[in-house]
Amino acid sequence: MMGHAHALSGIVGWMAVVPLLDGHEFFGLRFDLGPGEIVAGSLVCAGAALIPDLDAKSSTITQTYGVVTRGLSAAFNWIFGGHRNGTHSLLFALLMGGLTQALALWSELAVQIFVFLLLGIAFNGLGLGNDKNRLASEVINAMGTAAVTLALYASGVNYAWIGVAVAFGCLLHFAGDMATELGVPLLWPASKYRFGRNIGFTTDGKVERNIVTPGLTIAILLLSFYLFPWPELLPQA
Ligand SMILES: [Zn+2]
Repeated sequence: MMGHAHALSGIVGWMAVVPLLDGHEFFGLRFDLGPGEIVAGSLVCAGAALIPDLDAKSSTITQTYGVVTRGLSAAFNWIFGGHRNGTHSLLFALLMGGLTQALALWSELAVQIFVFLLLGIAFNGLGLGNDKNRLASEVINAMGTAAVTLALYASGVNYAWIGVAVAFGCLLHFAGDMATELGVPLLWPASKYRFGRNIGFTTDGKVERNIVTPGLTIAILLLSFYLFPWPELLPQA
C-alpha cells in the first residue's frame, strides 16, 4: 500500500475501535475518548501506520524530516535486518507502543513534541501541502501540524492511551502490507515466515486506487457522522 493508504487506514482503524474502547478499562488503562481524543488518536494512529516503513529509503516517513528521518531510517534498517523485516513484526509494534507509553508516563512535554512530529508525518502521508513547490508544501505542512497540535493541546486532550494507538497503527500497517501481496514476518525474529504473501491486490494498482483508497475515505466520513456528537458541536442557531 502507498503511504497515503496506510495513513488513511490508521484513521479508519482508530475511529472503528473508539466505540469498543470508550468508557472501558483494559489492563488498568482507562479509555475516555471524547471528540478531542478521537481526532488526536486518529492522527496519531495515521502517523504510526507509517512508522514500519522507516526501514525503507524512499518511504514517506523517511522523507519527512530530512537528514533526521534519513538517519533514523538507516539505523532502523540496520537494527531490524533490512526492508520489511523486523519493523514489520509484532515485536516491533509492541516495542513502539511500549516506548511511546513510557514517554507519556515520563513527560507531558515530551508527548506533545512526539505528537507534533508524528502528526507531521501523518499529514505528509495524507498528502497535505504535497505539491511541486517543496518549500511551500513543507511550510504549509508545518503550520497545519502546529495548528492542529496546539488545538488538541488547548482542548485538553489526555494522551493516556497513546502507546495503544501507536502499537495499533503499526498493526494496521502490517494488515495493509498483507493485503497487498507483500508478506509480513509477524513472528520475527523467532520465525521468518511471511504472512499474507502473494495474496491480495497490487500496491498502487487499480484496486488500491479505485476501491481501497476511496473506500477508506468514505469510511472516515461515515464514522465521523456516527462518532461525533454533532448537535453539541455545531453552533446553536
Ligand atoms: Zn511496509
